[in-house]
Amino acid sequence: MASKPQDRSDGHYTIAKADKDIIGLGVVVAMIVLIIATGSSALADAVTALISHGQPRNQMLSAALLLNVALLMFGFRRYRDLTAEVRQRRQAEEMSRSIAQTDPLTGCLNRLTVDEALQAMITSARRTGHEVVAIVIDLDHFKRSNDVHGHLTGDAVLLEASRRIRSALPDGSIMARLGGDEFACAAIYDPDHVTAIDRLVLHINQLVARPIVIDHLSIEVTASVGLASTATEHTAEPAKLATALLHHADLAMYQAKKSGRNGYRWFDAGLERELRYRNELERGIREGIPAGEFVPYYEKQIDLDSGELTGFEMLARWKNPRRGLLSPDIFIPVAEEIGLISDLSESLIRQALSDAREWDPRLTLSVNISPIQLRDPWFAQRLLKLLQEANFPPHRLDIEITESCLHENIGMVRTLITSLRNQGIRISLDDFGTGYSSFAQLRTLPFDRIKIDRYFVSNLDSNKDSATIIGAISSLGKGLGLPITAEGIETSAVLDELRKYGSFKGQGYLYGQPSDAQSVHTMLANQNMLRGLSIDPSASTYPFQQAAAA
Ligand code: C2E
Ligand code: CA
Ligand code: CA
Repeated sequence: MASKPQDRSDGHYTIAKADKDIIGLGVVVAMIVLIIATGSSALADAVTALISHGQPRNQMLSAALLLNVALLMFGFRRYRDLTAEVRQRRQAEEMSRSIAQTDPLTGCLNRLTVDEALQAMITSARRTGHEVVAIVIDLDHFKRSNDVHGHLTGDAVLLEASRRIRSALPDGSIMARLGGDEFACAAIYDPDHVTAIDRLVLHINQLVARPIVIDHLSIEVTASVGLASTATEHTAEPAKLATALLHHADLAMYQAKKSGRNGYRWFDAGLERELRYRNELERGIREGIPAGEFVPYYEKQIDLDSGELTGFEMLARWKNPRRGLLSPDIFIPVAEEIGLISDLSESLIRQALSDAREWDPRLTLSVNISPIQLRDPWFAQRLLKLLQEANFPPHRLDIEITESCLHENIGMVRTLITSLRNQGIRISLDDFGTGYSSFAQLRTLPFDRIKIDRYFVSNLDSNKDSATIIGAISSLGKGLGLPITAEGIETSAVLDELRKYGSFKGQGYLYGQPSDAQSVHTMLANQNMLRGLSIDPSASTYPFQQAAAA
């Protein structure tokens, strides 16, 4: 309701003023006609009176003439005032239209107007057999610089970046600010010289990357750029084409950002396939979790001295109905990005606890936990709830967290580890050696075990550097009193070499590939290692020593 008067004023006021404009003009014209009509009679009367030396016969006529002259003057002034008012009003409207169409900070077009400009450019390019490229540019880490130096400096950086981009663009290009630190440009190009566009974008990347000096501060930003050309679009209609072009350039920009920033990427058939695959993955994960398509596989963990089986590491697998068995490297990062890692992990842990309850109670279960799950303040409670529901003793559970967790909020990680350990759960530091965790962190965080990454283990027998690193890690473990698991043992040669460095636990393809719950169950049953069945030491030890020696 409150917006009604404003609604009326914008459109209708102009029309009303224009009407008055015409009325004012009408009054003046009518006065002129009347003056001519009354004026000729009054003038004739006055002339007659002058010749006959008498009074004008019709004094009323003279008064009417004077009145008409006064009205004419009044009407003329009114007409002039109104015209000036209308002119001012038009100028103000012009200005507000320009504000609505452009970005006030940079003077570029804005998100609302870029589409229309692009459509016009596409139509005009078609006439000459040219193509149009849309270029979406997003500044990298701009938010961080904005937070550090404040918004005024941030605005100055945006302004300077926009000037540099504009200076690189050919004449007749479009430039718009889509919002925040995102710009969109478009240019007409000759399809036979598409490399000119690559050079243009490289130049833009270089220009933006030069330090921007504001108030003695030298600020460095880079840009990620995405490109889409009318040459590779499927749509023909300019309106749809303009929208598709901007959307695709935006997707390409996002990919450029993902692959390291300060670079550019074209939207092409390859990227389209990549994105389609990615969408399919995302949808598949969303639907696959409740459908039970994600299942735990188990990898044996062995005491290398005795050859005894000590437990299993649970490794996620996706039984994808269309693509077969998929590895976690494919779906875990996507599940993390789309916020489903906790749901996925909980569903797997629930299944694993139920499987492991059937095993000999001396066998442990290790599960991998993503850094993202550790950010959840309720993580410990959720895990304990799962243990409770499965009636599974906490001391049989070992959670593996990677070094990358330690770069996050270390205080929070410490609290979490401590509270989990207080419940009896054990914590291993996974992939040790790949994530640059410091000695100090190792000492202050109460880990139960470190796992040497398979990268250093699998070539231990042939690579000197790996041998040096394994030597250093084993001394570190001894010094800190931390037991060590070596992963990625593929050959008995590596196993023999490893044994020289001390007593480890180990796992790897030498002991077999990870297998599903049913195979593990059968294997354990064959060795009398299911719950309630007594363990025959020779049965449990012998097969692994044999495998190791093979
Ligand atoms: P990881 O924790 O380092 O797991 C060991 C990986 O090495 C597994 O790959 C395993 O199949 C593989 N592997 C085992 N022995 C050997 C060997 O002798 N040689 C070689 N070359 N590889 C061996 P997988 O199953 O593909 O898992 C990859 C990674 O995915 C895991 O690395 C782990 O970080 C992650 N992951 C697996 N399951 C889960 C899960 O449930 N949650 C989370 N957050 N991450 C998981
Ligand atoms: Ca692991
Ligand atoms: Ca690992």
